[in-house]
Amino acid sequence: MNNKEKLRNAGLRPTKQRMIVADILLNGFNRHFTAENLQDEINSSGNSMSIATVYNCLKKFKNCGLIKQVETSKDTAIFDTNTDYHHHFLNEETGELIDIENEEISLHKIPEIPQGYLNNGIEVIIKLKRHN
Ligand SMILES: [Zn+2]
Repeated sequence: MNNKEKLRNAGLRPTKQRMIVADILLNGFNRHFTAENLQDEINSSGNSMSIATVYNCLKKFKNCGLIKQVETSKDTAIFDTNTDYHHHFLNEETGELIDIENEEISLHKIPEIPQGYLNNGIEVIIKLKRHN
């Protein structure tokens, strides 16, 4: 499936901007990135896009399930092209995320889910700090 079809299948009209983003993100390699990372990459590939447009595209991609946003305690949103259910190591010094396969983590005890809600997934972040 080419990127145009991927966008259409996800319910997104393949605009020029979305295609530029899709060509960078949907190339089969998983990565974690910020909107600023992506903007740098777009601009250095000879295209140009405002940060607002980049965020806009990412929001659309996220809402359609083409990418995920990783919930970290960092101020900057980190996005993930790996949309499979998985966990992360977070290097607190560099902000780098490393994938952890879902099978590598097992939880033996979680609290009761508040009434009226269901467990919609647990994502574990193991924060890494270099020891002396
Ligand atoms: Zn990931």
